[in-house]
Amino acid sequence: MTTKNYLKNLRIPTNDNPLRILVSACLLGVKCGVDGDNYGDYPSVLKLLQYDNVKFIQFCPEEFQFGTPRKMCDIHGGNGLDVLEGRAKVLTTSGIDWTEGMIRASEKMLETAQNNNVELAIMMDISAACGNRVIYDGNRYAENKKYQIGMGVCAAQLHKAGFTIISWREYESLEVLYSKIDPEHQVDKTAKDFDQHEWYIEYFKTDSFKKKQ
Ligand code: SF4
Repeated sequence: MTTKNYLKNLRIPTNDNPLRILVSACLLGVKCGVDGDNYGDYPSVLKLLQYDNVKFIQFCPEEFQFGTPRKMCDIHGGNGLDVLEGRAKVLTTSGIDWTEGMIRASEKMLETAQNNNVELAIMMDISAACGNRVIYDGNRYAENKKYQIGMGVCAAQLHKAGFTIISWREYESLEVLYSKIDPEHQVDKTAKDFDQHEWYIEYFKTDSFKKKQ
């Protein structure tokens, strides 16, 4: 089932039985970013805090495993699924191997999702842990930094276990979610998911990217 169909088929949540959503903690303003910040405001997610029929379960896998503040890391040689299957590594900017730790973090995030019986995850895209659609391809601080289509390690772990994930910028998908939660919600028909965004279309149609596929 596609993500959008999954969202369309979600039950109508009530205050007594709210929709259980796992969320990257930084999206709710928790200062768990690498430098002890929260990476800014995410109104598309914060909007959901006003509803009693939504229950957020927040989790930061990197903080759980590596603490805050901590080093920045990225995936080298593949994506999050490749890391889980032993084909790629998670390295800090200075080259320290965090692969094992990140896998442990992903297992804890999966355990959190399962223990809370979550029905959806909303994640921070681009992160080597939480990214759900696009992540860096190697070191984000490299002179010729590159992106790849793929999930971070924790998102991949959740995906493998069957959980549906969207990011804070899947605006079209979020519109479907908002209308499940709030019958009064006026759907913005112009809202786009990230893969319909100009940057995404332009970047991933480049020759160098096509050659890699
Ligand atoms: S993106 Fe994920 S790992 Fe990074 S700070 Fe947010 S919750 Fe933590």
